[in-house]
Amino acid sequence: MSDPTQLNDQAIPERGVVKPEAFVEPPAPKRALAIQAHPDDQEFTVAGTLAKWARAGCELVTVCITSGDAGSNDKTEAQMTKPQLAQIREQEQRDACRVLGVQHVEFLHYADGTLQPTLELRRDLTRLIRKYKPEVVICGDPTVRFYGNSYMNHPDHRAAADATLDAVFPSAGTKFIFPELLMEGLEPHEVNKIFIHGSEKPETFVDIAAVLDVKIAALKEHHSQLHDWDPSEMIREWAKEEGKQRGLDAVESYRVMILKGE
Ligand SMILES: [Zn+2]
Repeated sequence: MSDPTQLNDQAIPERGVVKPEAFVEPPAPKRALAIQAHPDDQEFTVAGTLAKWARAGCELVTVCITSGDAGSNDKTEAQMTKPQLAQIREQEQRDACRVLGVQHVEFLHYADGTLQPTLELRRDLTRLIRKYKPEVVICGDPTVRFYGNSYMNHPDHRAAADATLDAVFPSAGTKFIFPELLMEGLEPHEVNKIFIHGSEKPETFVDIAAVLDVKIAALKEHHSQLHDWDPSEMIREWAKEEGKQRGLDAVESYRVMILKGE
């Protein structure tokens, strides 16, 4: 029995149709754009999916909104300056993308640690969506504030995801939102699907067993954050945990919004 007090798609007048979610793995898109707040976010979360799609011929774009120049206290050497750290982390992100097979890497140079889902950020992301015209956009889940009892979702992650979803809909596809982008020659573009990682209610699963080593190798490019720590065991454990529900050995899971095409 469904709970009549719970909102679903049918309760939203503009979205009168409930879209059945496929339980088979979706095919690799032709072009996908992944948006994250910090260098290494992608490698911890969706890198297996990107590696798999790259090997299936998908053209990939990584957008990193900050350059991770706040670092973390215990991982950052005392003599390090913010500009130096930004430069190092941008290079590490490029190296990680090379391992995965991501062709394009874009940095927006927002300040690490104080990101807000501003209209400026929404416009900057809209610009990139219109420039690359991806079929799929990948981002985090801005609605999740707590993961278990020991990890609060970083405010930059929430801000990045919030701005991304708003950039996809309605800004990217609507001509007269940010008309200045038309002046730049950027016509509206409608994204087909959004893959949202870190969701509490995932329904789409990507089997990453064949590329798990690639994901780990890409993550290891973030030397300034890992130092001597080998993340392999933790990444394998996470992938296994996410695969349990589907009886698979290694998975990345998503909530997928289908906006167009199905
Ligand atoms: Zn992060």
